[in-house]
Amino acid sequence: MSTASPQRRSALLRRFASTGLLDAQTAIRRDNLLRALALIAREPAPVTRAVIARRTGLTSATASSLVAELIEVGLVTETGPAESTGGKRATRLAIDGDTHLIVVAVVRTRAIDTALVDLTGRTVASRRVDHSDGVEVSAVVDAVREITQGVEPRVLAACVQVPGVTADGVVVDSVQLGWFGVPLASLLEEAIDAPTSVVNDVDAEALTEAADAGEGVIRLVVHLGEGVGAAVTNGGTLMSGATGRAGEIGHVRVVFEGARATCRCGLSGCLESAASMSAMLGDAYTDELDGHDTSLLASTADSRERMAFGARALSRALRIMAALLDPQEVVIAGAAPALGPHFLGTLRDEFEMYPAKGTAAVPIRYGRPELGRYLGPARSALAPILGDALPLTEAPPAGPAPVVGERD
Ligand SMILES: [Zn+2]
Repeated sequence: MSTASPQRRSALLRRFASTGLLDAQTAIRRDNLLRALALIAREPAPVTRAVIARRTGLTSATASSLVAELIEVGLVTETGPAESTGGKRATRLAIDGDTHLIVVAVVRTRAIDTALVDLTGRTVASRRVDHSDGVEVSAVVDAVREITQGVEPRVLAACVQVPGVTADGVVVDSVQLGWFGVPLASLLEEAIDAPTSVVNDVDAEALTEAADAGEGVIRLVVHLGEGVGAAVTNGGTLMSGATGRAGEIGHVRVVFEGARATCRCGLSGCLESAASMSAMLGDAYTDELDGHDTSLLASTADSRERMAFGARALSRALRIMAALLDPQEVVIAGAAPALGPHFLGTLRDEFEMYPAKGTAAVPIRYGRPELGRYLGPARSALAPILGDALPLTEAPPAGPAPVVGERD
């Protein structure tokens, strides 16, 4: 664990967060620190100073100096001797889970979940406050203050997840919360004195699914809930678009024939009017339902019929997005996993029924709710400081192996 004072640590950590123009030497140092950090976090085999030197091509002296700085700022810790390869025993390095904390707040229409997550991805505290009459902005500030009480000096960064459109720390437009133009990040930065980001719920889900992504891997995540949205990640980084609205596919018309349902946006034939959970399961569906109750709604004959129609509409939208993005995979997330294997099977069949010439085959799978609700926003909180260096989770066995340098 770092022995530097919190003030000294934050001064040193500013080097990681620099977004302006850096002089060449500082920029190279920052890149090397992040490369070393990513190696320690992502490499399955034990990482020592010698491994860092070998994988990065830097001298042993430079590798040692990088590690010394990572230890001083509380990002890395020594865990004990590595297996002997003859000669002096090297020391194994690991991510420091005892120094820094990430604060996460997940705001929903009737509740706020807050959590403290350490840099290994462990949730060390969590709390839920119900707000049955709707969530006020001040309640989010209070909830974040409350969970950070007593650990203020350890807070490295924070993130608030909200439904709706967000850009540069501002909730631009959240119909669900009734918030418009709320400068949430700066309100929280004032309250807890830590850099804060704001992420929308679909982007947070995409960051969750991207935790094990190798460099250059494109992944398309489609969220099905009361609404429909999508997000694209490149490696572990979100592609948010010029105005933060990339992935707003819910009101693109995909149904042109027959009886088109009127959408809540007032138009008809939108993707959302056919393939949202509400469109497929009826008005009894809300985003507050748990997986079990959602599955029950999905088991009726009426729902089955609407799910087949929804799968067809969604497959058309996916065809175009997949042709454009050439993703490694498509993930259907949000409440969709509760629709079960039948919906996914229908979606895959519809998708493959009209193969588009010249495009690659794309696997479609459900999201992984077991990764938890805090991983995505925690990754969003770290992004401005440490980029994509820390996955905050172990790569799940089914996922692709992280790509970090060459293998031994
Ligand atoms: Zn619409």
